[in-house]
Amino acid sequence: MTGRVVALSGGIGGAKLALGLSRILPAHELVVVANTGDDFEHLGLAISPDLDTLMYTLAGLADEAQGWGLAGESWGFMAMVDRLGGESWFRLGDRDLAVHVERTRRLRGGTPLSQVTADLCKALGLGVTVLPMSDDPIRTRLETDEGWLNFQDYFVRRHCEPRVIRLEYHDAEQARPNPAILAALHDPALRAVIVCPSNPWLSIAPILAVPGMRKAIAACAAPVVAVSPIIGGRAVKGPIAKIMAELGLVPSAATALAHYDGLLDAVIVDPVDAADPGAYGAHMAVTDTLMTTLAEKTALAARTLDVAQSVTLAR
Ligand code: GDP
Repeated sequence: MTGRVVALSGGIGGAKLALGLSRILPAHELVVVANTGDDFEHLGLAISPDLDTLMYTLAGLADEAQGWGLAGESWGFMAMVDRLGGESWFRLGDRDLAVHVERTRRLRGGTPLSQVTADLCKALGLGVTVLPMSDDPIRTRLETDEGWLNFQDYFVRRHCEPRVIRLEYHDAEQARPNPAILAALHDPALRAVIVCPSNPWLSIAPILAVPGMRKAIAACAAPVVAVSPIIGGRAVKGPIAKIMAELGLVPSAATALAHYDGLLDAVIVDPVDAADPGAYGAHMAVTDTLMTTLAEKTALAARTLDVAQSVTLAR
């Protein structure tokens, strides 16, 4: 089968599957849509953590053990910020810093985020297309027992410790979707929409909150297939299970995937989460979903495409 594959992704979990997809698809057949709800301004710089995680991972430059940042990074800048008594809770490596400085300079000059991202990807030798969900700022905020917190204050500065009451995707209503994403979704030759195993509340919901995005996905010609970010009731990494419990939800693959609310044609869950086929409200495929090695990322990516194809053939 040919036709492009659109993958919706946050940072660390999503980038793993995106890397697998990039190893089995020709570069021009993969479009990765990145969450920008985590973006923020820090030390006067425009920081886009999920875009950068995707960009570094797909370019083979990522610090894989850590999951974010660049491999072989040096930390001279941060050490000096620390020594000066500056804000050092958000770690910026020396080479990573260059990306933020360059992005900020170009945004201040009036270049949209999508164009800056395309240029950064090109400069880093990426063939795959990485698209920010919107050029307009959307900011994930969390109401907690300590009051409203911006995403990075909650996630990095407060280590996800406050109890979450609710989330909002600030300014989403007035944001415009990246037109290149809508064009990819409207393409009659579209092969699949893959919802990566990213946090449904923190990474995928902001993408779906961009006006027109959910509708375009629901109306697209291709099957929508999601990989569960929860394995056996637990997060592989990050606060998803904790947040779900705080929101009054049972942390399970079924509850996490139910957050996509009728958008999915198929789900891919781990053998420990195999339930009766009706449990997911969509076709259920069962396979190992923990991705540690590149072989596991590639195998899971191949499986998502097979599942998409079987849904297409069954139509
Ligand atoms: P963030 O923006 O960096 O937090 O990254 P994402 O939202 O893309 O990914 C976080 C989610 O990925 C968490 O819910 C993890 O449980 C999930 N995750 C991370 N690694 C894996 C994995 O190997 N397999 C699966 N199924 N989920 C994973």
